[in-house]
Amino acid sequence: MKKGLEKYMDTIPAVGDASRQRETFWLNDKKVPEGEKKIHLLQPDQIDDARRRLERFAPYLQEVFRELEETGGIIESELREIPEMKDFLNKAYGAGIEGRLMLKMDSHLPISGSVKARGGIYEVLKHAEELAFDAGLLTESDNYRVLAEPCFCEFFGKHTVQVGSTGNLGMSIGIMSAKLGFHVIVHMSADAKQWKKDLLRSRGVEVIEYADDYCAAVEQGRKNSEEDETSYFVDDENSRNLFLGYSVAGERLKAQIEAQGIAVDREHPLFVYIPCGIGGAPGGVTYGLKQIYGDHVHCFFTEPVHACCMLFGMATGLQDQVCVKDFGIDGRTDADGLAVGRPSAFVGRVMEPVLSGIATIEDKKLYDLMRGLLDSQDIFIEPSSCASFAALIRPDDLRDYIEREGLSDQMKNATHIAWATGGNMVPEETRKAYLAMGLS
Ligand SMILES: *Cc1c(COP(=O)(O)O)cnc(C)c1O
Repeated sequence: MKKGLEKYMDTIPAVGDASRQRETFWLNDKKVPEGEKKIHLLQPDQIDDARRRLERFAPYLQEVFRELEETGGIIESELREIPEMKDFLNKAYGAGIEGRLMLKMDSHLPISGSVKARGGIYEVLKHAEELAFDAGLLTESDNYRVLAEPCFCEFFGKHTVQVGSTGNLGMSIGIMSAKLGFHVIVHMSADAKQWKKDLLRSRGVEVIEYADDYCAAVEQGRKNSEEDETSYFVDDENSRNLFLGYSVAGERLKAQIEAQGIAVDREHPLFVYIPCGIGGAPGGVTYGLKQIYGDHVHCFFTEPVHACCMLFGMATGLQDQVCVKDFGIDGRTDADGLAVGRPSAFVGRVMEPVLSGIATIEDKKLYDLMRGLLDSQDIFIEPSSCASFAALIRPDDLRDYIEREGLSDQMKNATHIAWATGGNMVPEETRKAYLAMGLS
């Protein structure tokens, strides 16, 4: 335990629990009404800019990824009601969920099978666009399908993209960059799964492995990239572009909610639960949703007990000045997508006026929830994704929040969305091993 942190353990119960490696639920008392208006680091029109950029690239993406044919090159996932999972959570965990429970299936996003297909791919596309603009090879009014022509591969081949990753970000950046023709290097931390490294190598991606944690992989990647002037580093700790790529999910979700005839207003609150690693993905999605639904959407992050860096950062207000090791926690978790020890340098601050709270969960429960979802709904998602149910299985804490917000009478009309952040690329063998975890 680093000196000076004891006072937070003594005065903030959730920090005390978390530092003792117990599951906990922190409610954010800095959240304010219309909090999104207090966010000045980013402007709402930047989300529009990101959305338009993705639309410009859609004809290209449709051309090069067969799986995007049906959606016209738009990378989006299904929003599905999961009533049997609701029954399972109510029976097995006494969750007492009223209203509707839905799954946002980013676990099944095309191209890379995780939420990183939003931010990661967006950032690569933005970088490619800038290079092509600067070289006079492309203008905004062109049909971006031309990018599929060999001369562009040759052009991008003179440039390198690098990223540090626990796995899924590397998959998105790696697959997209390699497709465009970039030389791409992914720096993988010790938590990264072998099958992800194998898959990337099979697509022509250079994978460098580290025995150390995520921060070390990022550090080395950043250093490598700085030494090469043709190299671009995707900086998960600081990137506004990743964040904006994720935030486009807000509008996309709104369209899906409306198409299913679901109301979101004062009488029909929307509760959203998103697994958090460094914070970019859940932060970006939350930012996008808050711009649309304001006080009618209630967003929670969820983290593994062993890697609850955002809880420590936000609850203490120390943000990225604190990491889980400072509290004597090892940062090791089976939820590889969430195995991050230090939160983003800016996400916690941006979230301060809007985030409802953070729940943590033990690894072994992730496997029970995984089996629960598979048995009840026939949907497989990876361990990290299963953290999206962490808040729902702590009904007493959730009730405190609901009472504080004066929503008790509205909860029968509520919609809960668990954000499944990854899963459909997990190979069959690995799935089987996951599904057997903790059974004997
Ligand atoms: C990366 C990831 C997250 C969280 O995203 P961060 O930007 O690291 O907070 C959640 N789930 C999965 C499966 C991921 O790969």
